[in-house]
Amino acid sequence: MSAGQGLFERWRGRSAAPEQPVEPAPGIALVGLQLWLDDSARVLRLAGPLRTALALPEQADARLQDYVQPYSLLVLEGEPMDWQAQVLDLDFKAAGGGTLHTRGWLQAQSGRWLLQLFDVGDLLQQRQQSLNAERQRHFSCHLASALRDCSIERLELVAQEQLQWLVRHWRASAARLLLQGREGWQTYASGNDPLAWPADAALGALLDQQAPGQVLCSAGHPGLQPLFVQEQTYLLPYAQGQVVQAWLIVIGPAEALVPQDALQVLAAYAEPLLGRLAAFELQQQNERLDSLQLQLGAGWWQWRLSEQSLHMDPGLAASLGMPAQLTLSQWLSRVHPADREAAQLALGELQRDGCALHLSVRLLDNHFEANPRWYRLCGQVRGSGQQRRLQGFMLDISDIKAQQQQAGAAQARLENLIASSPAVIYIQRYCEGALQAEFFSASLQPMLGWEPSADAQPGQWVHPEDQALWLARTRTLLREGQVRSRYRLRDHQGGYHWVLDEARLLRDDLGLPVEVVGIWLDVSEATEAAERVRESEERYRVLVEDSPAMICRYTPDLTLVFGNQPLADYLECSATQLAGINLGQWMSDSQREAFLERLAGLTPEQPVSSVEICLELPGREHAWWVWSDRGLFDGEGRLLEIQAVGRDNTQVRRTQQQLLQSAKMATLGEMATGLAHEINQPLNVMRMAVVNALKRLDNGDVQVDYLQDKLKRIDAQVLRASRVVDHMRVFGRRSEVEQQPFAPWQAVEGALSLLAEGLRGKGVELRVEAPMQAQTVNGHQDQLEQVLINLMVNARDALLARRQQQRELQPWIALRMEASDRQVRLLVEDNGGGIEPRLLERIFEPFFTTKPVGVGTGLGLSVSYGIIDAMGGCLSVENAAEGARFCIELPSYCTS
Ligand code: ADP
Repeated sequence: MSAGQGLFERWRGRSAAPEQPVEPAPGIALVGLQLWLDDSARVLRLAGPLRTALALPEQADARLQDYVQPYSLLVLEGEPMDWQAQVLDLDFKAAGGGTLHTRGWLQAQSGRWLLQLFDVGDLLQQRQQSLNAERQRHFSCHLASALRDCSIERLELVAQEQLQWLVRHWRASAARLLLQGREGWQTYASGNDPLAWPADAALGALLDQQAPGQVLCSAGHPGLQPLFVQEQTYLLPYAQGQVVQAWLIVIGPAEALVPQDALQVLAAYAEPLLGRLAAFELQQQNERLDSLQLQLGAGWWQWRLSEQSLHMDPGLAASLGMPAQLTLSQWLSRVHPADREAAQLALGELQRDGCALHLSVRLLDNHFEANPRWYRLCGQVRGSGQQRRLQGFMLDISDIKAQQQQAGAAQARLENLIASSPAVIYIQRYCEGALQAEFFSASLQPMLGWEPSADAQPGQWVHPEDQALWLARTRTLLREGQVRSRYRLRDHQGGYHWVLDEARLLRDDLGLPVEVVGIWLDVSEATEAAERVRESEERYRVLVEDSPAMICRYTPDLTLVFGNQPLADYLECSATQLAGINLGQWMSDSQREAFLERLAGLTPEQPVSSVEICLELPGREHAWWVWSDRGLFDGEGRLLEIQAVGRDNTQVRRTQQQLLQSAKMATLGEMATGLAHEINQPLNVMRMAVVNALKRLDNGDVQVDYLQDKLKRIDAQVLRASRVVDHMRVFGRRSEVEQQPFAPWQAVEGALSLLAEGLRGKGVELRVEAPMQAQTVNGHQDQLEQVLINLMVNARDALLARRQQQRELQPWIALRMEASDRQVRLLVEDNGGGIEPRLLERIFEPFFTTKPVGVGTGLGLSVSYGIIDAMGGCLSVENAAEGARFCIELPSYCTS
């Protein structure tokens, strides 16, 4: 469009000025506007093309001042004369209400004034535009620099402030800046936030459809109108290339908003903002990347082939203690010797063929010390010619390698364990409700002789009788997830093995069955051994039950845990009632005390002890049991339980007692002569006294004193005789059942009371040394007395026999007692010449005698030996200087 046409366009439509005759002055070109004025500035004439553009005053004789805009009146101060020779800028009121900007000058012409004016509207508009553009630039610069210079933390705030400022600048009511976020368009900053704002999704969908660079106005826009009903709204896009990066939405009258200017302002606003946001995002990404690399021990490397040097990520190089730039050979020298060749070849291949590099190498640290770190090297060829380079990244995989090695070692150990395990480990895969064998460990071969192939189906090997067990095992396994069962499997030779099967069903994340892992343990031996044990237990049980002996188990406090039938019979109850019964209740206090003391003496080294116990069973005579105990101990040597076997010895005991009794009676019988003498002696004395008394009576010479004396003597002799008889009666009685403590010397005295007179009658001297202190032993006094009588009778026999050959012999029997804290010794010695040494060992044998048939029984010493032994003592003999010396050793009885 030409300038002329432009002018024409601007004036078109304006009311045309009244047509006035144009009378161009000579030399005056009819261009612009000419006004002829008189001296008082009254307009005489109008000429020139612009005259039609003027709004003509209504009054007649209008002056120039009436044609111009009021502010131009300043230029028209005074008279036309005053205005000449200067440039006049006058703004006329234009037809249609506008302004016609003119510039011209005034010159005198033939007594009038000719005002020659030209339209300078274009010039002014251009100036205004350039001014506007300048202001715009300044404004944009200010916006951009404010956003560029602020700190990143204040960026959002500054963006907000700038937007508010823009709202004011455009005289709008509100504005929003929308940026593309993760969930589409999102408001980043708002200036005077509008009250009604469409939903982001609806707005976003609309914005996405818009072409970049297109300013949208809600007025008349079918999509925008419904969203922004209240006010006119401008949507200004900011695009880079074909991609819209931001939308500025301005709501309100926005009187001062010129869309094209506004786009520039938006560009000045959005470009630095987006730039900084992108830079910030990049910086954060870099930081994250750096931190990630640092944590991973990863970083890039590059080998520019033209430079022959290798560059590395500085962080990575620092962590390796390497320079960030080094030659290939320097780098290779840091590769572990074991990996160096592989690294060299791989890099060569990458360089030559360009195929991707994947390499794991160990890198030595800068001190070449132990524990090199593992790195994964990836790389590829980039660029060509001078730019050809290999680049990639390195990643520290030491941890993974270490774990790999550990896992490898663990797997190797596991495999080794599985292979060398005596158990077979198997896997069955679950497939549509069935279990298919998939794996057997190598130990299947040594155990069953089958090759461990996946085709094998264990069900075929199951013993026909155990097939129900096998099916039940599978059902339980699928139902409960695990099972433990025992069945027989056939080996390749047709033999069967008992196996213990422990299997577990493994499931996937959804709980669906995947596979079964199981283990077979060959328990044939154990099963057979258990069977043997069971059988043997059965045999022993029968043995114990059927044994005639009493067998029981009891705790150290004598409470029965178990007892067999014979024991139950003795105790008159059933075998089941035995448990809980205390054995001690049938023992006397001293028996029980001695029994417990004996148990306390049992040790793991000497766990066995035997004893003969005397029980007072209810409603029975005394029972004698020979009792053998074996203690059972715990790991610390504490006695837990006692196993005992007992045998009833009552009968033997009774026989022994009877034997003793008969031996005693025999002794009495043997002593009959002595005893007769013993009783004769007082009788003789009494007779003498009676005879003498009678003689005196016959002579009539009876004195009371004399008679009294005789009678007293008779009385004393009667006492003496009755003592002997009494003692004989006591001696002849059966012994007490239980042993009693007594003084052994009393037994000596008892024996002497029966024998002394008889011996003296035979001319045997008794050398008795009474002991200085009393001592006590445990046993039966009558039995010890019997022993002493036996010894003294034997001594008497030996003495009398010897005197027959040796008339001058002065026979004697010596009796004495020696005592210590622990034992008492009674010694019976004679001067009868002793016992032939070769017979010494035999004299205690039963029925051994050197006496003539009918005289000796050969039982005296053997019975005596048994009596002393039962009292816990010992009877021994030796030949002394003149005869035999018998020694009775008895343990002292301690009351404590
Ligand atoms: P008996 O007296 O019936 O022979 P004993 O058992 O009492 O039986 O004695 C066995 C034997 O021991 C006697 O026959 C005798 O030979 C021998 N004997 C026992 N005491 C003495 C003694 N004091 N001096 C010598 N021999 C003795």
